[in-house]
Amino acid sequence: EADRFEQEWAQKIGTKYALIMCGGGTAALVCSLAGMGIGPGDEVIVPAYTWMATATSVLTVGAIPVLAEVDETLGLNPDDLERKISPATKAVIPVHMMGRPANMERIMAVAKKHGIKVLEDSCQMVGGSYKGKRTGSWGDAGAFSFNYYKIISSGGEGGAMVTSDREIFERAFVYHDSGAAFRPKASELNEPIFVAQQYR
Ligand SMILES: *Cc1c(COP(=O)(O)O)cnc(C)c1O
Repeated sequence: EADRFEQEWAQKIGTKYALIMCGGGTAALVCSLAGMGIGPGDEVIVPAYTWMATATSVLTVGAIPVLAEVDETLGLNPDDLERKISPATKAVIPVHMMGRPANMERIMAVAKKHGIKVLEDSCQMVGGSYKGKRTGSWGDAGAFSFNYYKIISSGGEGGAMVTSDREIFERAFVYHDSGAAFRPKASELNEPIFVAQQYR
């Protein structure tokens, strides 16, 4: 069932891969950051208006969240994002608050210009689109929540990360599966295993 849902979710969002997990959108954010290789010494820019998990997921992987302003979209302000970029910045997490997309076109342009990764926190926008393309598929990775408050509930807690980047997917997979990778698909991984969490 998990494998089938992942396949259907990736297809729905428009990415190559999806990974579902029990730790909710919070775990999906953490696994995505681990997948991107974010860790100690790195800074990740997050909007000042969001649920705390956007920032605490950055702390969980040992990196520093740096707050930036939001604009009238309720999402990240692309101008303030650019102002907050430092030599230590490795990624940015735009958040789509209350089903309203952040300005992904400009955020992607700023990220590309500065060579930083983009992780969309789409926990409050599950299945919606921005300019004809689903949120979660604009950045290098996306995170969804299926908790009991959200648009789709898994009946308890749950979440998913999506990406089309094989390296991000494989590291996120290892990170959600105890590092030892127990799930059947684990035999297809090329990335080395490492110390991780258990969010299966
Ligand atoms: C709900 C939410 C999360 C975390 O999801 P959980 O499933 O509760 O872990 C992260 N970011 C935002 C913006 C959310 O609304």
